[in-house]
Amino acid sequence: MANFRIPDVRRLPAIASIFVILALIGSVCARPLSAAADSAITVTFIDVGQGDAILVSTDDGRHMLVDGGPKAAGGKLVATLHSMGVEHLDVVVSTHPHEDHVGGLIEVLDSFAVGKVLDSAKAHTSATYEAYLSKIYEKGIAFSAPRAGDSFDLGPVTIKVRWPTEPLPQDINDSSLVLEVAYGKSRILLTGDISGHVERILADTGVLNHIHLLKVAHHGSRTSTTQTFLAQTSPRLAVIQVGQGNDYGHPSNQVLTNLRSRDVLAYRTDEHGTVSVKMRPDGKTFSVHIEQPGNDLRASSSSDVFHRSSCRYVNTIDASRIVMISDREQAMNAGYRPCKLCNP
Ligand SMILES: [Zn+2]
Ligand SMILES: [Zn+2]
Repeated sequence: MANFRIPDVRRLPAIASIFVILALIGSVCARPLSAAADSAITVTFIDVGQGDAILVSTDDGRHMLVDGGPKAAGGKLVATLHSMGVEHLDVVVSTHPHEDHVGGLIEVLDSFAVGKVLDSAKAHTSATYEAYLSKIYEKGIAFSAPRAGDSFDLGPVTIKVRWPTEPLPQDINDSSLVLEVAYGKSRILLTGDISGHVERILADTGVLNHIHLLKVAHHGSRTSTTQTFLAQTSPRLAVIQVGQGNDYGHPSNQVLTNLRSRDVLAYRTDEHGTVSVKMRPDGKTFSVHIEQPGNDLRASSSSDVFHRSSCRYVNTIDASRIVMISDREQAMNAGYRPCKLCNP
C-alpha cells in the first residue's frame, strides 16, 4: 500500500516547485501522472432534500450511486452527476424500496448507462418502486439482490454487503442493504434506513470494526445511531442526509447528542448542502468539502485545532487534509479546539 508522509512545512515551497515541474512534464506527455502515491476515493452525499443519494467515485473513473433521493429531486440529481463529470455508472444500488431512496433513480436510469443494479428485493407495491423495476427491465440492466457475506469490487475498492440476511425482516427500512466500502485501511459504512435493532445485530455479530465515515441511518431518526453501535464503530466523520424543515423531525436531538458524545464530526445536508469526502487508503487522511460553508472554518484531518479560513496556519495544511467546517458549534461538538492565533 502507498506510503504517505506528512510534508515538512519548511520544505513546502520546494515541494510546490516539484509539483509544478511534474505538472509540466504531465502536460507535455499528455497523460495523467501515476496516482499511486496520492490515490483517493471520493464519497459525495448529494443534497436531494429528504432522501439519500451517495456517489462513490474512484480515481480510475468508476462510479457507484447508492440511492437516488425522491422522484422530485431526480432532475437535480442527474444535473449534479453531469456536473461532477459522471458519464457512466458502474453500479446503482437501491438500499430499499422507499420513495426517498428510489424515486430519483428512475431519471438516473434514463440518463446514464448503468452496469448493474443491486437491490434489496424487498417486496413493496408502490407505483414509484414498480416504475423503477420496470425501467430496469426495459433497459435490460443486470439486476441482483445481494445478501450479507457477498462482496464485489469497484476498481481499487471492495464493497462488502453486511446486511440483510434471509429471511428479510418484516420492516422495509430494516431490509436496507448495508454496504461497507473498504479502500485500503479506510472504511465507509452506508446504512440505508436501518433501525437500532439491525445496528445491534451488526454490532453483536462483530463484523463491523472501526468505521471512518458513517452514513447515519434513516436520516438521523431517533430509532437509529445508537450508543452501542457508535461505540463499536467509532466513526470519525458522519453525514446525515436530511431535508430542510422535513415533517419527521429528522435529525433527532438524541442522535445529535450521541454523535457529540463520541466526538464525531457530523455534517447534515439540510445545513451544509452537498458534502464531499475524499479519503486516502491509509485510514487517516481525508478532506471534506461542503456546499454551504457557513462561517467558513477550516481544520486538518491530522490535527484537533480549527481555524478561520483566513488564518495563516490554513495555508500550511495539505489539500488532501483540508476539512471545511461550517460553524464553531460543529467544530466544538467534534472535539476540535480553536486556534490561539486566529481565535475562531
Ligand atoms: Zn429514507
Ligand atoms: Zn425508508
